[in-house]
Amino acid sequence: MNDCLFCKIVKGEIPSKKIYEDESVYVFEDIAPTAPVHYLVIPKEHISKLDEVNASNSAVIAHIYEVIAQLAREKGLDDGFRVVSNCGESAGQSVFHIHFHLLAGRPLTWPAG
Ligand code: 5GP
Ligand code: ZN
Repeated sequence: MNDCLFCKIVKGEIPSKKIYEDESVYVFEDIAPTAPVHYLVIPKEHISKLDEVNASNSAVIAHIYEVIAQLAREKGLDDGFRVVSNCGESAGQSVFHIHFHLLAGRPLTWPAG
């Protein structure tokens, strides 16, 4: 996707603070963090949002959860963390390249707003 902000971040055309990268996943710091730890975990492949996940692209989503668990261990998120993927404008999605917010480092209340 030529015009996608997160595709540009994956390609290095827009700078980001990289936390982790492998062949299919990229993790970077959110530009406007809402918790002491606020990473965005994204597939390198462009998928717009969660309701576009299907049998042909779900392997990378499974891998994303492996990466999240690995980061949680490495970063010592023993006190707990939250993973959020907003799907659609009404749910708060503002960037239409699927992403998983990884939030930690403060008490996280529930239910979400
Ligand atoms: P959403 O609102 O779609 O669930 O989450 C999009 C997230 O992307 C927001 O938390 C926002 O702060 C973050 N964001 C938007 N533009 C940029 C950017 O250029 N760089 C980084 N690192 N994060 C961004
Ligand atoms: Zn994209």
